[in-house]
Amino acid sequence: MAFKSRISGLDFKPKQKRQRPARLQRWHWIALGISSFTALALLLATKDEAGAIPNHNALQQLPEQIPEEAAATRILDLPIPKLQRTTIDASSPASPHILAAPIADHPSEATPNLLPTAFDTSTTADETITKQPNTLGGGTQAKWEVVHVKQGDSLTTLLKRQGLSSKDIFDVTHADDDSARTLAQLFPGDKIWLRVSGNGTLLALRRRLDETKTLTIARGSSADIGFQTTLTEHQLERRIAHATAVIHDSLYQAAVKAGLDDKLIMKLTGIFGWDIDFAHDVRSGDSFTLVYRQYYRNGEKIRNGEIVAAEFANQGKRYRAIRYTAPSGRSGYYTPEGKSMRKAFLRTPVDFRRISSRFNKSRCHPILHVCRPHEGTDFAAATGTPIQAAGDGLVAFAGRRGGYGNAVILQHAHRYSTLYGHMQRIRKGIRAGVQVTQGQIIGYVGQSGLATGPHLHYEFRVNGVPRDALKVTLPDAKPIDSRYLADFKAKALSRLAQLTVITRTQLASNEENDQTIR
Ligand SMILES: [Zn+2]
Repeated sequence: MAFKSRISGLDFKPKQKRQRPARLQRWHWIALGISSFTALALLLATKDEAGAIPNHNALQQLPEQIPEEAAATRILDLPIPKLQRTTIDASSPASPHILAAPIADHPSEATPNLLPTAFDTSTTADETITKQPNTLGGGTQAKWEVVHVKQGDSLTTLLKRQGLSSKDIFDVTHADDDSARTLAQLFPGDKIWLRVSGNGTLLALRRRLDETKTLTIARGSSADIGFQTTLTEHQLERRIAHATAVIHDSLYQAAVKAGLDDKLIMKLTGIFGWDIDFAHDVRSGDSFTLVYRQYYRNGEKIRNGEIVAAEFANQGKRYRAIRYTAPSGRSGYYTPEGKSMRKAFLRTPVDFRRISSRFNKSRCHPILHVCRPHEGTDFAAATGTPIQAAGDGLVAFAGRRGGYGNAVILQHAHRYSTLYGHMQRIRKGIRAGVQVTQGQIIGYVGQSGLATGPHLHYEFRVNGVPRDALKVTLPDAKPIDSRYLADFKAKALSRLAQLTVITRTQLASNEENDQTIR
């Protein structure tokens, strides 16, 4: 455990190579070579992660690529981290205060164990706290226990069910106004951690408020102090991870094997979905590489974050995408040249079951029994299915419009406009003059107006002329603003180098063992 935390606590600096013990010299050159290679990749990798983000991030995702001996050498290289253990002293009187976990500032030090290491998933005790002298526990070591909030629970009913005394319940729920308010809002499935002494006295209560904050209400050391509130803040640490795989059976299987969760897979297909039809175009031998963020709290992974760079090789053609957040705050994925990975319009603005009627210049209308063109595409979908704005634009019309029923017309930049008809209802807030962004929900599928069943009637017009939405050439979304292009290219360079290194490592590894690795 300590061994592992030291690995993950590595702050990878070239100067540490000088401290390599002589007896390890036969590994020196191997390790040096691998380290330099890794260092190059990492330096490139973490360049724009600077600031609050420790630059040792990627290393923690790499050990599987490093031969065991070389990794061991590097561990011996390092001074043993000082264990600056910060504990919440449950038995000392403390006024409410904030403890900032020093993780982000001191990445090379051991992770302070502020909370039970398996806080989210188990009922194990917090070692650092159970070792505190227990003044009220009759000599027994009280453990933290998790209690699950049930439907209709208040904190009082929950604590009663645990067999706590009315006085303890009153005292802990009235420790101070802020925490009382916080604890008044309980939801089924929430967890409350309790520490109760051997004789049934409540010593402390704890609740995770969000990803970064934990509230602890603990009894003071002497009886007259009562309960004291502590708010502990854990900075989330952002790390960089990567995955790469060659597809043999399906994209999904390869992605899962490479360690991706469903959300990441969705993100990956979302980035390249404009160029690659993932339902039909993926072939055995296609491959992908992605570099993505992970969020950690106290050394424990909380969740995956955004993809920052990705590559997809599809039928011999390579697509690369780099995430960029402009100083304006808007993020997007761009080609290495700074062109948007997106098109200016969604091809289909609704998740449909089938296309019930295509664009047709000489169609006979099923209700009116007259022959006249069908100037849009009908997407059959269940009533209530959300309809998205096909592109960024301005609402030109929203309301009833003859045979279209409830309809929305969007005016987009330059010459484009889109119409959405037969809506069950228009989304609240969508009215003429309102700005919408691509993908924003503007209404819901229905059959208002002249319609034989629930569907979206979608029209795509160029200079006012209806065009077949399924076939029209869609313009690219806006490229990187020219003001930010230099900044983007500088950042993209390191990401591209990173993708290249990871992909090459993967290929080399594949040749050796023909297996996908992370
Ligand atoms: Zn129609």
